[in-house]
Amino acid sequence: MPVRTAPGSIARMIFALGEVMSSFKLSFVNGFTLTALVCFSFMSAPVHSVDKVFIAIGTGGPTGVYFVAGNSICRMIHKEAAEGRKQGRKHDIRCAAPSTGGSTYNISNIRQGELDFGIAQSDWQHHAYYGTGKFAGKRFEQLRAVFSMHPEPFHIIVGKNTGIKSWADLKGKRVNIGNPGSGQRGTMEVLMTAHGTSKDDFQLATELTSTEQSKALCDQKIDAFGYTVGVPNAGVALATDGCAAKIINLSGPVEERLVNNNPFYTFITIPKGKYKTTDSAVITFGVTATVVTRADQPDEIVYEVVRSVFENIDDFRALHPAFSSLDPAPMIKDGLSAPLHPGAVKYYKEKGWM
Ligand code: GLU
Repeated sequence: MPVRTAPGSIARMIFALGEVMSSFKLSFVNGFTLTALVCFSFMSAPVHSVDKVFIAIGTGGPTGVYFVAGNSICRMIHKEAAEGRKQGRKHDIRCAAPSTGGSTYNISNIRQGELDFGIAQSDWQHHAYYGTGKFAGKRFEQLRAVFSMHPEPFHIIVGKNTGIKSWADLKGKRVNIGNPGSGQRGTMEVLMTAHGTSKDDFQLATELTSTEQSKALCDQKIDAFGYTVGVPNAGVALATDGCAAKIINLSGPVEERLVNNNPFYTFITIPKGKYKTTDSAVITFGVTATVVTRADQPDEIVYEVVRSVFENIDDFRALHPAFSSLDPAPMIKDGLSAPLHPGAVKYYKEKGWM
């Protein structure tokens, strides 16, 4: 493995931050903490002349599934590195997976070289690669797919006594449309356009993060929020199990058109009993979570990342219930619109999967 430093100084800072965090047993709480810790790590733990490879994987809010996914990938990379040292098969990758704004933030920061890898919804991977939707006029041709992960249904979660039973009932209500940079913000906007709904149709359209929205719903500061996330999710449970919020069906003609006209959408069922208030199955449309990188990411690095995950797939599946049915065959093709990175292809061919 050639010696390489990460392209973005942020990647090294984030790694230093990870080291600082693990030594102090801290976890990401919010953007403020992140900023404070980045500054702290920058001042007190600079990483000079690294002879290792530092990679940063962009995730999502700290209560989401992406945060677990990114950190699980890092865990497998570090496990392989440790086992490799014993067996003489060495790789020098060190990995950090900070909390970020979500899918479109990750894609933009991979483009700028500030992140090496990132997790992104299949719809935003598609739009970024083809220069459509939010990425119209800003095509990211160098975006590369690595593998896909868990399904992410789009949830509309409604407060207990709001009387909201369908999309139409959101009119005149206080709705969280998500923070800019998040995948759900983009998908919410697509759904609003498809339904002919504008922000003005809501009494209030907030831009809270995924970490803030459940509390806001339970505190009755908002009536509903949109969230694209794997199942089950602690943030969703906070609202459903914590204050009897409900997830509504999104399976009418508008969603049917979205699914029929776009390869990256599919209908997903949230099974009965997943949360305290899902007393019957919820049918909604959704996407797939995917891992992406840039074309100029060295093949050996992508190869080792992919190898670490797939050689340890059973351990990986056990790290979150949303990962329990991950299966290599769909993971190397479903939801991937950008070309696969050659480093990933090398491993998939070696395994006889391609
Ligand atoms: N799908 C969300 C996004 O792209 C993130 C979900 C999660 O954090 O698990 O922003």
